[in-house]
Amino acid sequence: MIDQQLKSAIRDVPNFPKPGIIFKDITPILRNPQLCESVVDSLVAQLPVTRIDAVAGIESRGFLFGLMLAQRLGKPFVPVRKQGKLPWRTVSQEYALEYGKAVLEIHEDAFEPGTRVLVHDDLLATGGTVTATSELIRKLGGSVAGYAFIVSLESLGGREQLYAYSKDIFSLISY
Ligand code: 5GP
Repeated sequence: MIDQQLKSAIRDVPNFPKPGIIFKDITPILRNPQLCESVVDSLVAQLPVTRIDAVAGIESRGFLFGLMLAQRLGKPFVPVRKQGKLPWRTVSQEYALEYGKAVLEIHEDAFEPGTRVLVHDDLLATGGTVTATSELIRKLGGSVAGYAFIVSLESLGGREQLYAYSKDIFSLISY
């Protein structure tokens, strides 16, 4: 089963990036090409594929499987990046971190108004990152077609925040 394989592969790293945090390291998945294929297969099997026009992946771990998902669906990939990284004209969205703030950006010509965008990131925690991404999609006149994560940390309340944009929230494993 994919969930058992993923749980075995994902490694807990204590005190990263700060003391007291246990980081879920997904990089061991990347060592196993078959498991990578299964991640894409399993997400695509759950997704509302006929209602997805594009896939947005969030820097940087959201790029890994985001582009693979887009390719599998035969849809455009939209990179969402941290402030100052995208070379063309952008729209920006600020969001709160545990301490301080961060900004995400998207190219203003990333997609046409009316586009239904699936949002992908490796992991859902508080939901701040994907909520900011959802706002960027709205700013460009698009809508959120759903969310696809590899991991969701259910105790942090991220899922509930996303209901305002889409109730189609898919995650291969949760803790
Ligand atoms: P949120 O904004 O939902 O609180 O945090 C999710 C974002 O932080 C995602 O972009 C995700 O990549 C990153 N993140 C937070 N905690 C972890 C973790 O334990 N493991 C991984 N792989 N990413 C994390």
